[in-house]
Amino acid sequence: MEENAKPTSAPQGECRMDTRPEDCVIVIFGASGDLSARKLFPALARLFQVGDLPRNFAIVGAARSRMATEEFRESMREALARSGHLLELDWGELSQRIHYQALEYDALGGYLELSRFITGLEERLGLPGNRMFYLAIPPTLYETVAGMLGASGLSGRGVEHAWTRLVVEKPFGSDLASARTLDEALHAHFREEQIFRIDHYLAKETIQNILLFRFANAVFEPVWNRNYVEYVSIVAAEDLGVEHRAGYYEQAGVLRDMFQNHMMQLLALAAMEPPTLFHAGEVLDEKVKVYKCLRPFDPAVGFGQLVLGQYGPGKEGALPGYREEKNVAPNSTTPTFAMLKAHVDNWRWQGVPFYITSGKRLARKLTRIVVKFKEVPHSIYRRVLGEHVSANRLVMETYPQESINLSFQVKNPGPRFCLRTASMSFDFQQGYTGPPLDSYEKVLLDCMLGDHMLFWSQDAVELCWGFLTPVLEMCERCDDPNAHLRVYPAGSWGPREAQELHHGFRKDIGLDPIA
Ligand code: NDP
Repeated sequence: MEENAKPTSAPQGECRMDTRPEDCVIVIFGASGDLSARKLFPALARLFQVGDLPRNFAIVGAARSRMATEEFRESMREALARSGHLLELDWGELSQRIHYQALEYDALGGYLELSRFITGLEERLGLPGNRMFYLAIPPTLYETVAGMLGASGLSGRGVEHAWTRLVVEKPFGSDLASARTLDEALHAHFREEQIFRIDHYLAKETIQNILLFRFANAVFEPVWNRNYVEYVSIVAAEDLGVEHRAGYYEQAGVLRDMFQNHMMQLLALAAMEPPTLFHAGEVLDEKVKVYKCLRPFDPAVGFGQLVLGQYGPGKEGALPGYREEKNVAPNSTTPTFAMLKAHVDNWRWQGVPFYITSGKRLARKLTRIVVKFKEVPHSIYRRVLGEHVSANRLVMETYPQESINLSFQVKNPGPRFCLRTASMSFDFQQGYTGPPLDSYEKVLLDCMLGDHMLFWSQDAVELCWGFLTPVLEMCERCDDPNAHLRVYPAGSWGPREAQELHHGFRKDIGLDPIA
């Protein structure tokens, strides 16, 4: 180490919290549901197991289903067994901290009862009054539950000595108007700093790593702009179809399901300016600035910058088409694939297209951001190799690899002068020996710590809806939505038109050898 240099990074291996969250009560509405059993309780159990939960806490499940606390504990024990989280866990100790209260979401009496129950627990356990309310319920109930929390005095209004936080799962509305209505309903009882809008995608380790990679290294940022970058491509491909979520997906489609949240977050991470400090307020502000710079969608150009698709049956009928899926209308015009060519109109990115692509039933699951750099300005090899020398590509992949790859040109060994593409590769787990951190563990922990860094701010939600609303309107309100829906075979890489809109797409998804 250089003289006077201080260690700037954690030692290899475990990198855990140095502060524990304050003691609190965690209330999960919809605790009888899928999210609670598959994600929230396994995450809470892991945090408990590694000692990252508060020293003193209680978890209260709340839902309509009538069941005794013992029955609820047993269902959570089974859920933990299914997820593999029961092993090595002191279930006896954790289970004693889990409680259950049945209520109707729209009846005040149940909330008054819940309030008495929580106060009783706090007195008995010596808890300071900090409360986190997690809405793991259908989005149609958010306004009702927030209103009832306010009416029953559970929203923490006027409480000085302790915090009350409200955690809301995506989707945050289904368009700009409904997002604003929801926000007004939440703000009628909660202040902005009490509200945590979750996008668990953001809490994935490799997604967080994008900002670290960009702003903790001096070599990439100087070339991260219009002078050196030809395009940025953001791809989130799923191999699964609509599965059991047709009821929701028929209304949402790919634009609401993926673009309004995950894809816009990836765009912001790739495009944002360096924040002055790695702190929630500064980071969220920089993301908002990216959304403000998005060039408004031009309906006149319309399908010149957007490809919509829907999966049809796979080759030889191996996979059903979207319209053949359970609970999908046989004449459904819901898009399951979209590629959008977007522009960030600012000094850094002027003229650089951002291709944003997501789809269901594609050839394989893949999530990556590709930064394609420009070719060298002048090829000194033109007499031996022609004009074009393949450009550098930086691929930040979240799935299936958690990796970063930079491709570059080197000489091929041998007497003839020719180039080949080599790559520098980084595997996210490289040199790390500690346990992985699941995204729900991270969001629950950050809520308890009051850190908004990985959550959506309302202005970002509104700006993104504002950007996407003309796209949605064009797709949904045109005379014949079918006319613009390109059918692609299930299990393929989407409609041919996508490759026409973005010629580099095949390379971005690794289909052609990098040349
Ligand atoms: P569920 O459909 O499993 O519903 C959760 C609970 O809400 C149910 O157990 C039920 O409890 C109650 N509920 C369901 N439908 C109704 C209804 N029509 N009226 C009143 N109560 C109802 O939802 P999830 O757990 O899958 O999701 C919860 C939230 O999290 C949703 O907003 C979803 O969008 C979001 N989310 C879910 C993910 C997941 O992986 N599941 C991933 C990302 C976000 P009871 O009848 O006992 O009251």
